[in-house]
Amino acid sequence: MRDIHEALKHGIDARRQELVELTCDLVRFPTVNPPGEAYTPCAEYIGRRLASRGFEIIYERGEGAPGDTDRYPRTNVIARREGRRPGPTVHFNSHIDVVVAGDGWTFDPFAATVHEGRIYGRGTCDMKGGLASSIIAAEAYIAANPDHDGAIEISGTVDEESGGFGGVAYLAHKGYFSKPRVDHVIIPEPLHKDRVCLGHRGVWWAEIETKGEIAHGSMPFLGDCAIRHMGAVLDVFERDLFPALAAKRTAMPVIPEGAKSSTLNLNAIHGGETDDFTGMPSPNVPDSCRLTIDRRFLIEESLEEVKSEVVGILEGLKRDRVKFDYAIRDIFEVLPIMSEPDAPVASTVAAAVEHVLGRPAEFVVSPGTYDQKHVTRIGHLHDCVAYGPGILDLAHRPDEYIVIEDMVESAKVMALSLHALLHPQG
Ligand SMILES: [Zn+2]
Repeated sequence: MRDIHEALKHGIDARRQELVELTCDLVRFPTVNPPGEAYTPCAEYIGRRLASRGFEIIYERGEGAPGDTDRYPRTNVIARREGRRPGPTVHFNSHIDVVVAGDGWTFDPFAATVHEGRIYGRGTCDMKGGLASSIIAAEAYIAANPDHDGAIEISGTVDEESGGFGGVAYLAHKGYFSKPRVDHVIIPEPLHKDRVCLGHRGVWWAEIETKGEIAHGSMPFLGDCAIRHMGAVLDVFERDLFPALAAKRTAMPVIPEGAKSSTLNLNAIHGGETDDFTGMPSPNVPDSCRLTIDRRFLIEESLEEVKSEVVGILEGLKRDRVKFDYAIRDIFEVLPIMSEPDAPVASTVAAAVEHVLGRPAEFVVSPGTYDQKHVTRIGHLHDCVAYGPGILDLAHRPDEYIVIEDMVESAKVMALSLHALLHPQG
């Protein structure tokens, strides 16, 4: 046992430069979502590399998924390497899509610049650094133990940033994330090298529309301003809802600290003149105002309760405020999930963290969702965690980076976990 651990750690140290180059290559595919740029070449790059290491490669296009077109095909790659003897399958799943670069960069977001022990670029942290670490971990493991039991799978999937429908959800519907094909799933999202992430909070997105009546802007008293009605909604949110949400605290180990409460983000608001008008606005009283809300909830709350809090406020206004009328439309919902810390994959990865870093792993829950929901809900596979290098706060920001040493250490944790899960007898 000791020998294989040492061999794996040395194997990864020896591949440090290869890990950096692989990460840089992946970042240089500008897999920006939306629209879903460069998915196919990125997936094929991963497929070619793993094919040369004895993996069988399958490409699955998320046909008919949101955004899937011939110009922007939702190309996923699944690589599987069978061992010598039957046994469990360990699957590393990473999303290959990244969010738009945005402004404020001092580095070229798609050049993958190595600077002072870090790699800078969009997707370095979220999550091509994690993907590269899992590939290097598997390659080092195979070199040290070519006759392993069971099977190793690595997938590069699309659209995680937009809900994962053309990626993990699509593959889960086809059985890629279910037993008996797969037993343990590790998702190398950037939760940091010393943390094992058990799940995430719930999500409810909805659109609230307040209604009014159009009239000439010089005589607003003849109409009914939908934006003022929305203002009344926001007033009650400020006065009652935000403090109530902040007061709710979860027993889930959510990080960062602020996300241990329920939260609400006001995502977008539109009313009156559309934002694409040019020249002078026309003098109208707006008859519609729409607000998109992004509510994140705790395992202690039910979705019904979460919705009825907001509906209760709207109904209260309908009762008390003259001419107030509204509509509400659900956009998206995900229930909170949390796997058990003593389940095989969580406890194995935690033990590997302690072995590599010399301190106990921290079990955490993510403030936002990621593809684990599809593995659990569609694939009915509960032995799933997120574990990977990178600092969550850097995701989606300008000058996103990954620390090379963090990738190296995470790759060691992944390789040790792989061995322990494939050979539970040691
Ligand atoms: Zn991510």
